[in-house]
Amino acid sequence: MATDLFTTARARLDDAARYVDIEREIIEQLRYPKETLAATLLVRMDDGSRKGFKAWRCRYDDTRGPTKGGIRFHPAVNVDEVMTLAFWMTFKCAVMNLPFGGAKGGVSVDVKTLSRAELERLSRAYVQAFARFIGPERDIPAPDMYTNGIVMAWMADEYGTITGHPSPAIITGKPVALGGSLGRDDATGRGGFYVLRELRDELGVSPDKTRIVLQGFGNASFHCARLLHDDGYRIVGLSDSSAAIYDPDGMDPYAVMEHKNRTGSVAGAPTRGHARALDNAALLEAECDVLIPAAVENQITEDNAAAIQAPVILELANGPVSPAGDAILDERGVIVVPDILANSGGVTVSYFEWVQNKAGYYWPVEEVHTKLRAIMDPETRRIWEVARDKAVSMRTAAYVHALERIGHAVEARGTKAFFNPLG
Ligand code: GLU
Repeated sequence: MATDLFTTARARLDDAARYVDIEREIIEQLRYPKETLAATLLVRMDDGSRKGFKAWRCRYDDTRGPTKGGIRFHPAVNVDEVMTLAFWMTFKCAVMNLPFGGAKGGVSVDVKTLSRAELERLSRAYVQAFARFIGPERDIPAPDMYTNGIVMAWMADEYGTITGHPSPAIITGKPVALGGSLGRDDATGRGGFYVLRELRDELGVSPDKTRIVLQGFGNASFHCARLLHDDGYRIVGLSDSSAAIYDPDGMDPYAVMEHKNRTGSVAGAPTRGHARALDNAALLEAECDVLIPAAVENQITEDNAAAIQAPVILELANGPVSPAGDAILDERGVIVVPDILANSGGVTVSYFEWVQNKAGYYWPVEEVHTKLRAIMDPETRRIWEVARDKAVSMRTAAYVHALERIGHAVEARGTKAFFNPLG
């Protein structure tokens, strides 16, 4: 049930709080979102009818700065999912020390049923509904599942129309021609690649002997697969929402993408040996050294965690491993590199985009890559060290690391210990 997603996600907080010397009121503050706005978007369809779509935006916590997080267009989106994703964004931004709190938005819609013009009207309707809630200094959206550069372009344009002047810093993930940052398109996948590279020795995942399976073949997954492939890793399995392929001899992700673009699916894509067609569930349990879930939440649960063969899981999706699944993996010694670290490259380059928009001064792509690594590598190492020193999972370590930062920010305005030191 959707409510469970938020309740179980929030349990990570209590888990991490056991390892941080932090005042109770800080945990209390982080228990619920600061504010959540719901709206119905009424959109004129191509056939002349008007249709309503449920939409939300949640600003979870803004102690560390304006809130930040994507907008998801998906039929399964609901308020609990949006709140959960906003909660994760709060911790993700703190993990990378970005001067942002966390937020998320969503619309319950199947974009595959919309024409391009309907999609534009829906995107503009979202901004009309939430224009007072978002803002370049208040809450900055970005892409998430089934939203992309052109959706961001329509949304930025609509916001500019409402406010009377262009404000590129209202939203990130824009096309480069409209103030987007170079390097934002592949940033999520690239960040995951940097994390794996930084922990190569610790995890024993050198390119020559590491077989990779990726679930999902969207933006994050494709770029991660291509960077791993270019670095000499062997991609042995891939999937999209309709099919999965597995070949122990490996495959070229560029060729698979070319096939998917042409046919609409990874099914039947060319590989090095003889590819086997699998279903998505079986792919997760296939033999490999690193499994990269890069699709949706709750893919590895108590139902299949015992059957996962990969000794390392890199969470490129948000929340792909459920807490019950996590416990089983932990017991089995499987190392899970958590989402709030592994997929944080996207929001980090979003931060760069926002900085460039505000400065009106744009960086070459090499500078984006250098700055991304300069942030991600030390934070990755720090989380590895916290996990080692406190003998906890990398997920708990990432939450501990983030919670310390959020805690210090709350404490800097005074908590009970300041106002009533003797009490
Ligand atoms: N939607 C992405 C995420 O879940 C990116 C958010 C952003 O760039 O603000 O991290």
